[in-house]
Amino acid sequence: MEYISTRGGVTGISFSEAVMMGLAEDGGLLLPRAIPRVDHDTVERWRGFSYQELAFEVMSRFIDDIPAPDLKALITDSYASFNDPAVAPMVHAGELHILELFHGPTLAFKDIALQFLGNLFAYLLTKSGDQLNIIGATSGDTGSAAIHGVRGRERINIFILHPHGRISTVQEKQMTTVTDANVFNIGIQGTFDEAQAIVKTIFSDTDFKHHYRLGAINSINWARVLAQIVYYIYAYLHIRTHEQDRTVGFAVPTGNFGDIFAGYLARKLLPEGAIGSLILATNENDILARLIEDGHYSRRPVVATSSPSMDIQAASNFERYLYYLFDKEPQRVAGAMADFAQTGVLDLRDQLDHIRRDFIGCAVSSDEVSQTIAHYYRTYGYVLDPHTAIGVRAGQQLSGKGTPLVCLATAHPAKFFDTVETAIDTRFELPSSLAAMLDMPSRCEVMEAKMEDVKAFVAKHALSSS
Ligand SMILES: *Cc1c(COP(=O)(O)O)cnc(C)c1O
Repeated sequence: MEYISTRGGVTGISFSEAVMMGLAEDGGLLLPRAIPRVDHDTVERWRGFSYQELAFEVMSRFIDDIPAPDLKALITDSYASFNDPAVAPMVHAGELHILELFHGPTLAFKDIALQFLGNLFAYLLTKSGDQLNIIGATSGDTGSAAIHGVRGRERINIFILHPHGRISTVQEKQMTTVTDANVFNIGIQGTFDEAQAIVKTIFSDTDFKHHYRLGAINSINWARVLAQIVYYIYAYLHIRTHEQDRTVGFAVPTGNFGDIFAGYLARKLLPEGAIGSLILATNENDILARLIEDGHYSRRPVVATSSPSMDIQAASNFERYLYYLFDKEPQRVAGAMADFAQTGVLDLRDQLDHIRRDFIGCAVSSDEVSQTIAHYYRTYGYVLDPHTAIGVRAGQQLSGKGTPLVCLATAHPAKFFDTVETAIDTRFELPSSLAAMLDMPSRCEVMEAKMEDVKAFVAKHALSSS
């Protein structure tokens, strides 16, 4: 399988090269040249496969430079850390099917991709003899999933900056109680924006970047999207076992557009008509919901909500969708992204019909989130996290009658217990793994928000190949 950049400046690279490149060298995002389509008989053959077996079938259609036994081992290792043997179990509340994607080590769906990416990095670095220093800033979820993806790995050090004292206790503990020698937590005395600005400045020093082989946590790495395609197909097979020959819809709480884009590719991969609606649900940071409404993709300032992992205004994976929206013409993607960088607006009204065939969507307010959490708790005894509640609410509003709808549950409610306890007006029992973690020893370097200090710290602790 050959990989290309959405902007046309990179072509003909392998899967492994695409994973190590992360962001394409021309500033675009990497995609496979073609999305293979599987036929009905093949899908029937997958029925009854375990999550890991299915992951191998799906991923091996996009990976031809890793031997099959190695890929199988990578997949098995990646999901061994999950606390449910099904990896992504389906539960039912009323007419809703809820796919629980939060059984990984940090209790959020990002583990599904980052456990795999961590193993993949380690495997590829062992083969090439290289080393990698990952550096990134986090407002919570991505940083902890990335740390748990690479903890204890040889050839990889990871440096994660977070705003000291400004993330939730659970999020902080999930990062700082990882005391493996290759993990460096840096608590910045400042805001998330300051932490992110420091990381960006360090990356812009190309000599430093190359000398220390710096890598980003990369919410845009192709391997993350690939790992996420799997659970759409897993859910589809599960529903089909009960309801033959039905189209299945999905409701997806959306921030950076990575999760729902994986659903878009799963729809291209499965036989025509297998996946129907993809419901794109945002919080008040509604750039994507507004796009579906009026055809303008326009950036606004980020506002803080009760679903912080979706507090994003410019969705980093959106460029991958633009590539298909613009009939795979890279020069149009490059032009549009340059315009957007300058003006903060893209006029996609000419493509609006096309966009509405691909996605339906709406924005959900924090009040509606609380109401939805309370309703599902009272009616079914099921506790939704605030992100999941956004998808559920949008699904209630938009899904067609008679079409089975799968709501992706992207975080365990305990991760956001403040919001959840207020909504259900009941004290909420933390899972034992989380309760134990709160008492574990932790390690974190607290530093002033000074770029030079952080850079010196990274230089001192980085792995160096020379
Ligand atoms: C990251 C995240 C999302 C948003 O997913 P995207 O791929 O960025 O659209 C939703 N819910 C939770 C809990 C998350 O951590």
